[in-house]
Amino acid sequence: MKFNNALKDITLYEAGKPIELVVREFGIDAASVVKLASNENPLGTAPEVANTILAHATKAHLYPDDSMHELKDGLSKKFQVDTNEIIIGAGSDQVLEFIARALLCSDDSVLMSRITFAMYEIYAKQLGCIIRRTPSYVHKADEFIEEYKKHKPKIIYLCIPNNPIGDCMTASEAFRVIDAVDSDTLVVVDGAYMEYASYKDRDCSISPSDILKYPNVIYLGTFSKAYGLGGMRVGYGIAREELIGELGKMRPPFNISSLSLAAAITALKQDDFIQESLVLHTEQIAKYEEFANQNNIEFIPSYTNFITYLLDEGLNSTVVADNLLKKGVIIRNLASYGLNAIRITIGTKAQNDIFFGHFGYEIGAR
Ligand SMILES: *Cc1c(COP(=O)(O)O)cnc(C)c1O
Repeated sequence: MKFNNALKDITLYEAGKPIELVVREFGIDAASVVKLASNENPLGTAPEVANTILAHATKAHLYPDDSMHELKDGLSKKFQVDTNEIIIGAGSDQVLEFIARALLCSDDSVLMSRITFAMYEIYAKQLGCIIRRTPSYVHKADEFIEEYKKHKPKIIYLCIPNNPIGDCMTASEAFRVIDAVDSDTLVVVDGAYMEYASYKDRDCSISPSDILKYPNVIYLGTFSKAYGLGGMRVGYGIAREELIGELGKMRPPFNISSLSLAAAITALKQDDFIQESLVLHTEQIAKYEEFANQNNIEFIPSYTNFITYLLDEGLNSTVVADNLLKKGVIIRNLASYGLNAIRITIGTKAQNDIFFGHFGYEIGAR
């Protein structure tokens, strides 16, 4: 069988390892596994959301409301945008897929930072496109503008803040890029971690309504991170109505389940839960910075719910990640991104202390 040539060049997306794998491979009890690998909310999801999901179980035989009106209404009030300016995806990942398929033809190029969210590349490569990257792994506006002028890419991906590095382009820098680009190029502002970034630093805050004056910019958000709904798969894109209308042509009907829809609607109302999550996060990420400083580990100041430790020659990120895995601590090895670094999702105090204990041992043994 001959597959689409474009597939030759695609490496599989490497998802964070699930708890089940550690249980299976190392015989560790599921309850003792510490998963700090997929940027999930360590507080879980708000109890009201879990109750909503349970309450909707009896309606599992009904197709969901495909207009998703109630969810769009909630988002529209939260962000002061029109419901026609919103598209819902099975995770913002699916919105990224709609965007790629709606815009890209083979041999078009797309531009992203040297190290960023892997799905931008994967969707573009599926369509036979050329990947261009800025030289730096953190987002630099001048580099984006320069590469844009050279290659006129069809899509520019700004991951604000950036996964898996944690750096954050300021809003004014992002708009410097956006203003330098003409309307043939779409700029994607991926705000998967925006709740964390805007809580930490107002200068990094971009809200969806800020981008609506541009016909060629789309803002992406997700319920998977701060809202604690990774397992429900709900994300959204916000842009001008004309753009949303075109993306709608790529969307299959009923693309998120009725349970997901109900969960997201309830999650949007849990301001106290989000606040509590951000407070815990802020307190705990400070511990990671302190630990790094005490142990001479270089880290990238993070605007997200994870932190990236850059390891020196004495520590190999693959070895460290494997050793921690055997002890039931799942973190992310960034070797596949060409970095000797590990990315750790900030957990609860108890989870983080377990990480510090085991990682401290690795440092001592180097
Ligand atoms: C997690 C993440 C997403 C999307 O997550 P979904 O679960 O598909 O909503 C998008 N972009 C970045 C940068 C992410 O880290």
